[in-house]
Amino acid sequence: MKKIGLMGGTFDPIHYGHLVLAEQVRTRFKLDMIYFIPAGLPPHKKQKEISSSKDRYFMTLLGTITNSYFEVSKIEIEDDNISYTVNTIKKFRETIDNSSELYFITGADAIYELETWKNVRELLGLCSFIAASRPGVDKNKLSEKIHMLNEKYNGRIIETSVPALAISSTDIRERIKKGQSIKYILPESVEYYIYKNNLYREKQIR
Ligand code: ATP
Ligand code: MG
Repeated sequence: MKKIGLMGGTFDPIHYGHLVLAEQVRTRFKLDMIYFIPAGLPPHKKQKEISSSKDRYFMTLLGTITNSYFEVSKIEIEDDNISYTVNTIKKFRETIDNSSELYFITGADAIYELETWKNVRELLGLCSFIAASRPGVDKNKLSEKIHMLNEKYNGRIIETSVPALAISSTDIRERIKKGQSIKYILPESVEYYIYKNNLYREKQIR
């Protein structure tokens, strides 16, 4: 029986917060593999401008390339519909061995939003969730929230902690806009990709 981790995100861009979380969870929960799933049209972010699926896919590939336990899945970006996690997981299930266990890995912010996601009850029946706190998140409140969700939906949300990294894609995009350094916040290859393709500049020269 395989244990497979799924790490959904916009990855605009991927950074060490995502990578540290995934690697810590992989070793702690003895996962065989983690699939990073760049979002196609994320329902929560559709109003905001996000980079193309192609750019986010390439950055995710570059960022995960040094880890042989990490793979990047095109399952959402190849779908023109809005990506709802419940549909993604059902689709992903069809591509793997029936006995495999799925673990959806998220930061705490996603847990707070979970009840706004499509078909939460069904979703929580499809896989376990591993939730890591992020800087700025009250750990007691997170535990309470997880307990409440597990009771209400008969869910399997497990709390974990990773070395706190106050890194976010939003912060990286803002730094670039302001001309500040992003060195050591994300993999060097991703940094080069961003500069080479002029991402996140005020005026995008393409
Ligand atoms: P944005 O600022 O654009 O929302 P982000 O940094 O939150 O970007 P996402 O692609 O939205 O990145 O996040 C994907 C997943 O990774 C989410 O579950 C999020 O909670 C988690 N995550 C992102 N950054 C961190 C971090 N520094 N520590 C722990 N989890 C994180
Ligand atoms: Mg986010």
